[in-house]
Amino acid sequence: MLWREVGDRVFTRKYPFFNQQIGVVLGGRDVLVVDTRSTPAQAREIATELRELTRDPVSIIVDTHWHFDHSFGNSVFRPAAAWGHVRAAARLRADGRATIEEVATELPEIASDIRETIIDPPENTFEERATVEVGDRLVELSYHGRAHTDGDIVLVVPDAKVMFAGDLLEEGALPSFGDSFPLEWPATVEQLLPLATGAVVPGHGAIGDRAFVEDQIAAFRRLAELARAVDHGSLDLEAATREELFGRPTPDEAFERALAQLRGTLD
Ligand SMILES: [Zn+2]
Repeated sequence: MLWREVGDRVFTRKYPFFNQQIGVVLGGRDVLVVDTRSTPAQAREIATELRELTRDPVSIIVDTHWHFDHSFGNSVFRPAAAWGHVRAAARLRADGRATIEEVATELPEIASDIRETIIDPPENTFEERATVEVGDRLVELSYHGRAHTDGDIVLVVPDAKVMFAGDLLEEGALPSFGDSFPLEWPATVEQLLPLATGAVVPGHGAIGDRAFVEDQIAAFRRLAELARAVDHGSLDLEAATREELFGRPTPDEAFERALAQLRGTLD
């Protein structure tokens, strides 16, 4: 039994591929899945393993953001209703197909599987917040600002005190900065503190709690501070990247995007 019950009828399973956390919320006859993994084959693995928890089919899926490892399994769970941020759905529509080939080139081990992906963006979208009925209980979806992407949402199960934070928070790995807004990341994650009343499930890595959120905020604040020092000319970019904010040297990309934000060239 590799499902872990982190709150009443709220489960997580950590997959070795990308150390990814997948969530499940059960309520009445409804089955909600948080993030659908990278390929249809990976999503079918979730569907099969869900039989350990319930015989009911998946009725709701939630994409925490548009990235392939969180949304490319969507089509496997249809006719389930799919939820996500309005910009995540738009980005999937715009860039999903091109991403299939990019990832196939970068990750040959999943190339043939990912080419089976049917891009299937959420049809239930929102800007700020939404409440979703899961049988006899409610879950809250909310957007708190740009950070890891421009459309990351968190899912909170209030009656179980569980928050799924997507890739706004990652444990045991560097945050992913490719689509990020590093200067806004600290303020966005600060807004998660009141929601961190129990288990905090990151997109990747081990489950944490409020203290984990606080540590991440401190690291993101420091990153913004270093970027400002580089921008002012009081710190070398190389010295900045050497500082291990997330347990290893910070990628150049984090500073490139932070500096682009400071110089007004990012958006
Ligand atoms: Zn991501």
